[in-house]
Amino acid sequence: MLDETQTAFSILDEAAAALGGWSALQSIGRVHLESEGQDWEPWQAYDIGGTVDVSTFRNVTDLDLSVGASSVEMDAAVVYPWPHRVAYIEITDSQAGMLADLNLGAVAIRRLHPSLYATARRDFAAFAPEALRLARADADAQLEGGTSKSVRFRHHDAGRQATLTFADDHTPTSLTYDDHDPVQGDIAYRFEWSDWRDVGGIRLPYKLRRLIDGRPIREERLSRVTLNEPVSDEKYRIPAIVRAQDETGRRIVTGWTQRRRAAGLPYEEFTRPQQIDMTPLAFGVWLARGGTHNSLVIEMADHFVIFEPPLFEGRSEGVIAAAKKSAPGNPIRHVVLSHFHDDHMGGVRTYAAEGATVVVHSSAGDYIRAVLGQRRTIEPDRLEIARREGRQSQPAVMLVEDAVTLTDGTREVALFHAPNSHVSGMLVGYVPDARVLFTSDLVSDTFPLIPAFASAVHELIQKNGLSVEMIACGHGNVMPYAQLAYALGKSTRSTDIAEINALEQRLIDGIKAKDVKQIMSCYSDDVFAYDVVPPREYVGAAAFQKPWQGFLDMFKGPINAEVNDLVINSDGKIAYSRSVQRVSGTTNEGKPFDETFRITDVYRKSQGKWVIVQEHISEPPHAARW
Ligand SMILES: [Zn+2]
Ligand SMILES: [Zn+2]
Repeated sequence: MLDETQTAFSILDEAAAALGGWSALQSIGRVHLESEGQDWEPWQAYDIGGTVDVSTFRNVTDLDLSVGASSVEMDAAVVYPWPHRVAYIEITDSQAGMLADLNLGAVAIRRLHPSLYATARRDFAAFAPEALRLARADADAQLEGGTSKSVRFRHHDAGRQATLTFADDHTPTSLTYDDHDPVQGDIAYRFEWSDWRDVGGIRLPYKLRRLIDGRPIREERLSRVTLNEPVSDEKYRIPAIVRAQDETGRRIVTGWTQRRRAAGLPYEEFTRPQQIDMTPLAFGVWLARGGTHNSLVIEMADHFVIFEPPLFEGRSEGVIAAAKKSAPGNPIRHVVLSHFHDDHMGGVRTYAAEGATVVVHSSAGDYIRAVLGQRRTIEPDRLEIARREGRQSQPAVMLVEDAVTLTDGTREVALFHAPNSHVSGMLVGYVPDARVLFTSDLVSDTFPLIPAFASAVHELIQKNGLSVEMIACGHGNVMPYAQLAYALGKSTRSTDIAEINALEQRLIDGIKAKDVKQIMSCYSDDVFAYDVVPPREYVGAAAFQKPWQGFLDMFKGPINAEVNDLVINSDGKIAYSRSVQRVSGTTNEGKPFDETFRITDVYRKSQGKWVIVQEHISEPPHAARW
């Protein structure tokens, strides 16, 4: 119960007394903390509501309260999303921050991302005696909730409200900030303190926990604490060359960037200008590629369907702007989420603000409705603003059970539930007329193939009889389906594809060796070819050898040749491929030669061996643009 005479200040004075008294607390200059701990991630688990172990770590934190500097040395053994080491030193002072990345074996030093800087400053101020001091310095600090157990104050560093709570013996128990999270919106970010021990007449907590909306994300147990021991001048030194680097972006306090870094995942694009690369995959289908996450943009007759709203609002704004360049008046009618992991759906509210229906697996329906219903008072986003202005109060959500097809009468987008061991409620998208399939996390051309994940995609394609040519990946780029089938060893056609690959490589090697016999061994005797040089066509290997010999004879010295984007399809007897080939060198006249050719080949298997029976070569117009 509240004693009439108690004020926020008397409560804070009692707390200070419980820790050794204000004058003892004021005497703290340098703080040295060594700890071991672990990180968890609540929004990356298999099921919504679950938690995944991210890492175990050792941490050495040094603070200088008198000059306002901090140094954190982190060395973490990360187990999720994949086992690797995350090690860094982060130094901040009242002006700037620096990150020394130790992962790579060499030390890479750069200016600290502005969001990490702001959040590190907040962490500095969350050292228990410092938090007490800051609360006491706020003339407007208030008792909260009508009891003597909590004090609410304005935290000067972050410009936000925070709440300190106290135990019956006046020892502080927690510090909770009103915080922002790009995916979770307004959140409560809480530091919990326990296991208080005496350090030279001052009581300090030896156990620290951090929680977001009550869900634990970090626990640290201190093994060594010293106060006011001398440290090297180098401890907090940020070189001038780092200070001079452009910080770029905004100083938004959020645990999100810290959690991304803790798992060894990229965070650098947060609040910075987005680079969106629209890679065309088929007519009206693009892979909108960013630094780490992609979306599939599908142009329908009078609207867009966008598969995947990753990361945060800034990314969604970039993708929406890029999509609308091709059809400015068309609205985005559907945005599809592959799964609930926060890096894959953090931009969903921006699409909802545009009026798009959010399409998600039924198991994630309640969660996504809650995300769409969040308040965003600290960093208002487009949906928050639309709501304040009386627009988009209730975004529409469409649930997918096993499969759904979106159509405009001409083009279809099919969505399938793909059971897998990465996450529950995973959706995969397929555009039949483009033969493009989109999947996040299960297949990527830039990560090692995880057979258990990739098999889920392969089985879905087989079970539904999908005629997939290209797999567009949520991370990375694209992967020809034949390559996936080959890698999984699942396809009876995989040996054909390997053999045809080898055939094309033998042809390229023949060009490099200027060996016309080797080149011609790749063609059937009755080969038919449209070449880039007259006459219109060549019929038979003997005729086609002439332009080949002429081509090889053009060059003085070595010829460079490479085959790119080779996509092969085979039914076991007949196969076809397309590729882009580049040939360069120096002509006999001493001029540089560098040409790109588009090649379509048709193959036949004869006497157990694949040969090219038809070839069509062309040079793209304006080759320089390719
Ligand atoms: Zn995932
Ligand atoms: Zn992912």
